[in-house]
Amino acid sequence: ERLAPRPHVVLLASPGAGHLIPLAELARRLVDDHGFAATLVTFTDLSTAEALSGVPACVATAALPAVPLDDLPAGTSMETVLFELVHRSLPNLRAILRSVGAPLAALVPDFFCSAALPLAAELGVPGYVFVPSNLTTIALMRATVELHDGVPPGEYRDLPELLCLPGGVSLRRTDLPRSFQSSNEPVYAHLLEEGRRYRGADGILVNTFYELEPATVEEFKQAAGRGAFPPVFPVGPFVRPSTSSDEAAGASACIEWLDRQPTGSVVYVSFGSGGSLTVEQTAELAAGLEASGHRFLWVVRMPNLDGNDGHDHEDKQNPLAWLPAGFLERTADKGLAVAAWAPQVRVLSHPATAVFVSHCGWNSALESASAGVPIVAWPLYAEQRMNAVVLEGSVGVALRPRARERGEIAAVVKELMEGADKGRAVRRQAGDLQQAAARAWSPEGSSRRALEQVAATWKKVTLAEVK
Ligand code: UDP
Repeated sequence: ERLAPRPHVVLLASPGAGHLIPLAELARRLVDDHGFAATLVTFTDLSTAEALSGVPACVATAALPAVPLDDLPAGTSMETVLFELVHRSLPNLRAILRSVGAPLAALVPDFFCSAALPLAAELGVPGYVFVPSNLTTIALMRATVELHDGVPPGEYRDLPELLCLPGGVSLRRTDLPRSFQSSNEPVYAHLLEEGRRYRGADGILVNTFYELEPATVEEFKQAAGRGAFPPVFPVGPFVRPSTSSDEAAGASACIEWLDRQPTGSVVYVSFGSGGSLTVEQTAELAAGLEASGHRFLWVVRMPNLDGNDGHDHEDKQNPLAWLPAGFLERTADKGLAVAAWAPQVRVLSHPATAVFVSHCGWNSALESASAGVPIVAWPLYAEQRMNAVVLEGSVGVALRPRARERGEIAAVVKELMEGADKGRAVRRQAGDLQQAAARAWSPEGSSRRALEQVAATWKKVTLAEVK
């Protein structure tokens, strides 16, 4: 008897390792746990080349050919370039979809690629959006579209200072990602368009888990019930496994150093793959860490020079050269500063690591949650301030310094490391969240069941087609 071919899911990742890694993990789950074949489609772009090397072997990959974008005016925002890139790549994506081999079970573009959803409709398969970020982001998109398309049409600028999203997360205007703050922002129109398309998706898969955003998940359930929004499935956390590139980048030095530190004694400091501090912030952070008296592992990136070009100085090509004079010498017995990169997942799960000073990128937040490490929130840009609000306010696993000034930084680090009151509550909450994250993927766990439900729906559709 001939084996029926596995139903095939095609997933589309927008450029950027932070988008690709969780989508690859989703693809792996679909293959390993649910018997699908999966192809991960990416755009030809350098930043993902390294991440691609970490895609599990059971997931096929396909790269969309480059499309010309040189007609876009100089200075076009990165987001606009991205949206154009997706639109212009649709014919190539259609060709890939037609060639992967039947039966096609579903198309899953990530949140910046929802322009691909009409292709799912065209081919008669379910189209689900994958959100590598949290559900609060989608609540914001949804609320923005509802406001804008409401009667009378409006936007956040017109609302009171404290904005309450569906599900109850309250944001100050300054916590909103900049592109949402006003319709004058060049990307606002794109976000609206994207948000409107979400409403046409068959479902939304989100890299979060129930216990992280319970009220928001419940609110979305109700919205789906009354047909106001597609069903939402929290299927995370998808945390990247450590990769071979970690090893290459001096990973062992970090781990060997951590091995020599006492359990629960180290503050890990990192601002993700794109974040950088100003020279002044670097100095305040250094002084704050030193004043806290605690051990630290600091991933130092080149500072943000805001046009003051220090790159001319040859001796300043190394990020460590921007640390305050004498800092490394004075802290040699307490701290390790590494340039640019550390094997973060391994660092966070190391028993010596106790606290994470983080920019609150969503992958970092999930990695921290999975390791039970509380956070000193230091958001920099994009949706990071909003993530910090979720982590500090609703989840209670983070503290945010009131000012980025040495005394305040030292105080917050000490509170999280040793505080008997507030610090202890946050540490305990981080431990509880770690257990919840592990439970989400246990046999009866919320994320596992949510993905099972989705997989069952896709299979039903495919079977009906094959018959
Ligand atoms: N990362 C790492 N080492 C570093 C800095 C970052 O391994 O020194 C990884 C981190 O584990 C996470 C990703 O890079 O998986 C950063 O993603 P996130 O969403 O936190 O922030 P972004 O880089 O997108 O701002």
